[in-house]
Amino acid sequence: MEDNLITISSYTDIFEAEMAKGFLEDSGFEVFLQNERILSLYPSMAGDMYMIELQVFADAEQEAKTLLEDLDDSYLCTNILRQENALLEGHFQLTSGNHSNQYIEKIRVLQNPAATHVLCNRLAKRLQDYDFDTVIGPAYGAIVLAFDLARILEKSFVFTQRKDGQMVFRNGFDLSQVKKAVIIEDIVSTGGSVQEVIKCALDRGIEVVAIGLMVDRSGGKLDFGLPVESLLTLDIPFWAPEDCELCKDGIKLSKPGSSDKLS
Ligand SMILES: [Zn+2]
Repeated sequence: MEDNLITISSYTDIFEAEMAKGFLEDSGFEVFLQNERILSLYPSMAGDMYMIELQVFADAEQEAKTLLEDLDDSYLCTNILRQENALLEGHFQLTSGNHSNQYIEKIRVLQNPAATHVLCNRLAKRLQDYDFDTVIGPAYGAIVLAFDLARILEKSFVFTQRKDGQMVFRNGFDLSQVKKAVIIEDIVSTGGSVQEVIKCALDRGIEVVAIGLMVDRSGGKLDFGLPVESLLTLDIPFWAPEDCELCKDGIKLSKPGSSDKLS
């Protein structure tokens, strides 16, 4: 039997390998992972020489390969959000002040560092060809993403935070070597925070070369005047509080994560 197994894809990350396996199994394929156990015991061995190999039976090779090509960034990101129970339905006030019937509880993704790392790896692949020296993320959620991304791409990392309502670089960072940067944000709806970080960078003479997003929930309508790399683009409706049908129906309003950006 073993002789009939063909490797169709290789991974250094166990979480990503498991996700690909589940994706193919959901479509009825029999899937095997090789080296998974040894790499779960010794993750530092993962690399070009030693990877988790995803295998299927030879007669399913072509079909499984074709299907695996569909496992793109948006599928992966959606799956991770679902798996971590981060896609919520109800009546929510967004950071921008607008209301919506859907909310992405991003903190639940960060709660799983392995899942977060998979997303950062994907974002890294999309940003690696840009010319920059530093990754900037606004506090708090994007700090984790920006830090991991900077580590993967071997760049430096800084973060911004709001101080007295003003977006500023965290005190103490040495910005003298920061010339070109990418800005990372977890989720944007109006893009307000990202605009503030862009201004913050420009004020310090730092050129911003691209924006990296985990989720763009504006449906791709935002224009920062810069290239945007987004893992997942969703068109989630939102509206001003005075136009909110859910408010009119007296449905209780949640303000998830609203303390995030206040400090
Ligand atoms: Zn409302």
